[in-house]
Amino acid sequence: CFESLQGALEDCTCNVDTIDYFNNVKIFPRIQSLVSKDYFRFYKVNLKKECPFWADDSRCAMKYCHIKPCSKDSVPQYADGHDDHIDESPATKYLKETQNECMADDDHNPDLGYLNMTISPASQYEIAKWSAHDNALENFCESDDRDVDAEYIDLSLNPERYTGYKGSSAHRIWRSIYEENCFRPKANPYSSFPFVLSSDLSNMCLEKRVFYRAISGLHSSINIHLCSKYLLSEKTAFAAPPEGEWGANLVEFQRRFDPSMTFGEGPNWLKNLYFVYLLEMRALAKAGPYFEHEEYYTGNHNEDEETRQAISNMLSVIYTFPEHFNESSMFNKGIQAATLKKEFRDHFRNISRIMDCVGCDKCKLWGKLQIQGLGTALKILFSGRWDGGDADPSVGPLPLRHKSHERLQRTEIVALFNAFARLSNSIRELENFRNMLR
Ligand code: FAD
Repeated sequence: CFESLQGALEDCTCNVDTIDYFNNVKIFPRIQSLVSKDYFRFYKVNLKKECPFWADDSRCAMKYCHIKPCSKDSVPQYADGHDDHIDESPATKYLKETQNECMADDDHNPDLGYLNMTISPASQYEIAKWSAHDNALENFCESDDRDVDAEYIDLSLNPERYTGYKGSSAHRIWRSIYEENCFRPKANPYSSFPFVLSSDLSNMCLEKRVFYRAISGLHSSINIHLCSKYLLSEKTAFAAPPEGEWGANLVEFQRRFDPSMTFGEGPNWLKNLYFVYLLEMRALAKAGPYFEHEEYYTGNHNEDEETRQAISNMLSVIYTFPEHFNESSMFNKGIQAATLKKEFRDHFRNISRIMDCVGCDKCKLWGKLQIQGLGTALKILFSGRWDGGDADPSVGPLPLRHKSHERLQRTEIVALFNAFARLSNSIRELENFRNMLR
């Protein structure tokens, strides 16, 4: 995988080695320590929203639900599709089929996607104070943290890792996401999942390429995490929460990223991880002065002060990065630019709604967080609200002034920093896989 993962990235001037060094040595330790602070550890999210696009298929989150179809004999007659006495709609048929696939499968483990909702009493008391504090602020846009069903989740209790979510349910989500990009993935006779070839990207405009690369980079990051925290032994995995042995699975990593297993695309998907990393880092730099003046309120004066100092310290390092992503070349071509920008935003909003269809709670939690984080980065880069008078990043990496009335919501800030921490962690994990291959 790594031989082709070298040199310059496309659609930006940076190269992979520079990012590896900068991330692994300078950013990774700082961002991981930052997101362990209380302000960033608790994320408010509504995981109970109905999927607006198709009937719920959370059953397919069950491990092995789709990869081990039951034998024909074990399927009760009413669901085998041959009983012409029963008139079934396609939806009813689908539900029965998936139900029977799961019922017939005694090997599934729904606990792998288990979400630990525990919040200690002390934290509950503190969090009640946060809400009062946040509600007193003027929020300028709606997000699902204001829904009645939204709950705080302690991210440290729910690490992103292998959950066994796979098969047609997971593929339907990825396919829908790529389709939102107006890339209709091409049917591929050799693969069950149609995919976009990187060579097709040259026919697209820069903005659509950026969109695709960002999503593909996020997809890589999610898959790297499940390879690096794979369930190696599941002796105790049936406990809730499951307590198996988790660790790096090199074979799984190669299956997903080796060029010989991915029609040559694996290294490009890894490069897209670096691309989305640069994009989010640029957003942090651009809104840097804003982040340096944010309160990071948790009610604990010392902790809040430490968080502010850690933010300042990390930003001061980010400002030194020599080749930031340059967003100024996007959405600036004539009268179509505004339409394209609106399309870009609408498509991205749809992707965040698709997240409500993810059929595994833990995947949904991290999927929603990372999409919200990326959405916040795009908002900073492209909404025009964060551009100061000196809005030309090619002049240098220094942050731009923000308009003083702009605010980000707590969940947006928490999501952006945690999403960036995930990307940083993925790049660090690549180093581990590289060493294992050596
Ligand atoms: P998939 O990853 O499902 O990919 C489908 C197809 O897309 C591939 O066959 C390939 O053609 C193409 N593709 C793959 N990677 C890329 C890329 N980077 N860029 C472009 N195209 C690509 N599983 C877990 O175990 N833990 C999780 O926390 C988790 N979170 C998830 C969150 C979301 C939002 C979603 C949609 C899925 C999540 N999954 C998670 C499932 C996981 O991402 C895979 O879908 C699953 O492991 C099945 O993998 P696969 O090999 O079939 O390929």
